[in-house]
Amino acid sequence: MKDTAVKPRRLQSYLDGAWRAGTGEGRPVYNAATGQIHALIGTEGLDFKAALEWGRRVGGPALRKHTIHERALMLKAIGLKLMEMKEEFYLENFATGATRKDGWIDIDGGIGTMLTFSSKARLELPNAKLITEGAVERLSRDGSFVAQHVLSPMEGVAVHINAFNFPIWGMLEKIAPSLIAGMPCIVKPASQTAYLTELVVRRMLETGLLPEGALQLVTGSAGDLLDHVSEQDVVTFTGSAGTGRMLKATPAIVQNSVRFTMEADSLNAAVLGADAGPGTPEFDLFVKEVAREMTVKAGQKCTAIRRAIVPSRFEEAVIEALSARLAKTSIGLPDGEGVQMGALVSRKDRDGVREKIREIAADCEIVSGDPENVTLVCGDAGQGAFMAPVLMRARDPMSADAAHGIEAFGPVATVMGYHDAEEAVALARKGRGSLVSSLFTNDRDIAREIVMGLAPYHGRVLIGNRGSAKTSTGHGSPLAPLVHGGPGRAGGGEEMGGIRGVKHFMQRTAVQGTPEMLSAVTGQWVEGAPAQSDGHPFRKSLAELRIGDQVITKSREVTQEDVEHFARFTGDTFYAHMDSDAAKANPFFEDRVAHGYLIASFAAGLFVDPAPGPVLANYGVDNLRFLTPVYFGDSLQVRLTCKAINPRANGDYGEVRWDCRVSNQKDEVVAQYDVLTMVAKTWPQVA
Ligand code: NAP
Repeated sequence: MKDTAVKPRRLQSYLDGAWRAGTGEGRPVYNAATGQIHALIGTEGLDFKAALEWGRRVGGPALRKHTIHERALMLKAIGLKLMEMKEEFYLENFATGATRKDGWIDIDGGIGTMLTFSSKARLELPNAKLITEGAVERLSRDGSFVAQHVLSPMEGVAVHINAFNFPIWGMLEKIAPSLIAGMPCIVKPASQTAYLTELVVRRMLETGLLPEGALQLVTGSAGDLLDHVSEQDVVTFTGSAGTGRMLKATPAIVQNSVRFTMEADSLNAAVLGADAGPGTPEFDLFVKEVAREMTVKAGQKCTAIRRAIVPSRFEEAVIEALSARLAKTSIGLPDGEGVQMGALVSRKDRDGVREKIREIAADCEIVSGDPENVTLVCGDAGQGAFMAPVLMRARDPMSADAAHGIEAFGPVATVMGYHDAEEAVALARKGRGSLVSSLFTNDRDIAREIVMGLAPYHGRVLIGNRGSAKTSTGHGSPLAPLVHGGPGRAGGGEEMGGIRGVKHFMQRTAVQGTPEMLSAVTGQWVEGAPAQSDGHPFRKSLAELRIGDQVITKSREVTQEDVEHFARFTGDTFYAHMDSDAAKANPFFEDRVAHGYLIASFAAGLFVDPAPGPVLANYGVDNLRFLTPVYFGDSLQVRLTCKAINPRANGDYGEVRWDCRVSNQKDEVVAQYDVLTMVAKTWPQVA
């Protein structure tokens, strides 16, 4: 294997506006597969307090000058550039012991996660600096005192401490939501694989797309960094539970109530359903998935399957099938021809895994694989951190505490037999909280019972069966739109989960006051806030349109003929519109009523200004409610008010949300909803 570092590279940290090496030569970091020195690392003498201050003073304000969409677009541009350079990262990735396939999760997976965050933020969040959350709460009878939850970016630094196994994904999945939220970051990768993170950060900074101070990097020990965190900072930790607990108790974190998110190790399980015996597609999927999770990244994945919980009567068959599959794994240099499993990250870590196997063996036996010996297709077993996959079996699963509690962070799993669904759930829960478990079944009752039992103890549960065999993303893949994290042993943290992940870096505040004041703060019109009517708002482009621009329409009577015409025309001849006796027998109506969609259609007919103009399209309605029945002879009137304006950062139009209130002749609200339109930024549009 060709080592990418001809001469070991002295890694640097990017702090306080410059690349800095610590004092001294740095300590060696070894290539996982060849055992040669790959890089030198160290942070002695670096000033972490100054770095935090620089992030807060320079990075934060520079990021918060931009809107959420602008920040998201910044990340998209960086992500696309990283994609172009990814071959360089794949080459460096081999030094971690990971094969190209393993590297895909870290490199393509990491960049893809950042791009997903960028696109979700632009789709689901406003192009604003402040986010409103939930409905306006009415706190007084007359509506003069209301409240709204708002989210604003925390004004400190997000310190991200990461594990060695995903040096790129681990960084990108955390900085994407933080930067979108408006928080600058300091990334501290694990020393063992920091060379790969350092390379990516160099390339990111070289794009010149990030504002000064938005991203800093610590390669090597974090020194006294956490002693200087304060109330506006956020710390996220990914790594072993022991380190996490220690860092969570850092005095500055405790005293300043610093938000601390922990993603720790977990003893994830895969459960085979009682219906999924040998010969079923689910049995085969289960075996394939357990073997895959044991060998991808040599089992060094926080989500890897550590416990295979199977019906006792299928235990022998599972062990036989799994052992046969594992025995076929070709192990060797990560860039070697046909190699399926590379090396563990270091010989020290491999020795640690062997030690853990000895501990687990207290109540388990090894049924396949030799922890001490490995046959390689290429490479030197004496130099690289290679190891064969090891399958164990618990003698008495309910009392096999070591197998439920000790995470051997390598290609190791334990098979555990169960007698009924209740016992399967009890075994999975003995992990005391996990990131993910999967269940392989094609039986809906089994799925319901077991998932209900697993859910409180897990951040994610995957159901595998023949229906999704080809499309499933698999047990081990955390996905940007889904929550990653788990209770208890897994750290109690929560990351990603789409926009939920962005909100971890924002402060939620309940703002109370009059509608007028609330509207001024949030930039959104609130019922009861001042409104103005100076011409039809559909004649205004975004350059002229203002929150509170309003049109109150003339009235229109709804007749029996209208309702019957609509019924015939659309085919909606539901009895409440057509049959007086049947309508009267209904608890909600006194007689035949107009269709709700007829009301919405008449409303559009009343408020629309028909001539070509800046309103480009209607793209839907939100929160449509029909509140009062409309009878023949009732008159409808619409009040349409511009509620929120969301200009696209990279387009010549924006979304406008209109509050639409349809009332009857007694001023009762018959329908209430938000109308969603696209409106040009200027009109007439300049080509
Ligand atoms: P680790 O030894 O706990 O280290 C994690 C991180 O903490 C590293 O960056 C490490 O830096 C840093 N660290 C250690 N002591 C510190 C201190 N005093 N102050 C500040 N930072 C400190 O874990 P690892 O060996 O890298 O990773 C393997 C573990 O991570 C496994 O247990 C695995 O299950 C878990 N993991 C969990 C997830 C998840 O999402 N839940 C994901 C991946 C991995 P140095 O390397 O410089 O010491």
